[in-house]
Amino acid sequence: AEQKSNEIFTKPKVTFEDVAGLEEVKEELIEVIDFINQVEKYQKMGAKIPKGILFYGPPGTGKTLLASAVAGETKSSFFSASGSEFVEKYVGVGAKRVRTLFEKAKKESPSVIFIDEIDAIGAKRHLDSNNEKDQTLNQLLVELDGFNTDQTVVVIGATNRLDLLDEALLRPGRFDRHMFIGNPNVKAREEILRVHTKNKPLALDVKIEDLAKKTHGMSGAHLSNVANEAAIIAVRENQTTIAIKHFEQAIERIIAGLQVKNPSVL
Ligand code: ATP
Repeated sequence: AEQKSNEIFTKPKVTFEDVAGLEEVKEELIEVIDFINQVEKYQKMGAKIPKGILFYGPPGTGKTLLASAVAGETKSSFFSASGSEFVEKYVGVGAKRVRTLFEKAKKESPSVIFIDEIDAIGAKRHLDSNNEKDQTLNQLLVELDGFNTDQTVVVIGATNRLDLLDEALLRPGRFDRHMFIGNPNVKAREEILRVHTKNKPLALDVKIEDLAKKTHGMSGAHLSNVANEAAIIAVRENQTTIAIKHFEQAIERIIAGLQVKNPSVL
């Protein structure tokens, strides 16, 4: 089997300012950021850097965004991969990819490795099986246990389903910090809408706090779509600003889309 590289390596410019709401999670992450930024200070005190952080919660709530902001805030290299991309039909390929990913991250340290859909590799193992998936998970455990303190590599895993994960992955020294990333409340929706309309010309009739009230049940990803759709509708109508009616049409569209997928969502 060929050895293709499936992760993306960047130096993100994203910071906590781009992540709206999620105040408690950000506060917890500030500790981790301080660790990465001042590794030596912590080492002198004999403290070990946290290795694995798990973000769990519904889709589109900013897990990927938050992970890249951790890299941005620490000027770290950011490696982003999806768990499903590691699982291959040839035994050993996934494990090899995990090994290569960690090798690169160590070389480019300080690094943040983000593994989305970690449940694709990290789901509970079956007692008697020894398949490709188990080898991939075992390699991930080896990597988590393996790296020493002079390489600053923080691994952030994300999943919609914490309950699916193998206990071994959650043990102390591995993914031992669990942070819930939930859907935004009205205040957070307002902040997210502000972030996503910051660089857009708004008509005077647009009240962001009213839009926040009208978007109950939406995730950050939905809200970002609302702002973008509204802009597109305004362009199609040859307007120079985005008015409340454009937002209302955009909200209707997104809600209609949600109802097709899940009739009970809103
Ligand atoms: P998934 O579980 O589907 O991978 P996710 O939780 O990783 O989703 P992101 O990919 O981070 O979600 O979010 C998608 C987009 O939605 C972001 O790029 C951003 O534009 C917007 N978004 C989501 N949450 C927020 C937030 N809290 N603040 C600002 N923008 C947000």
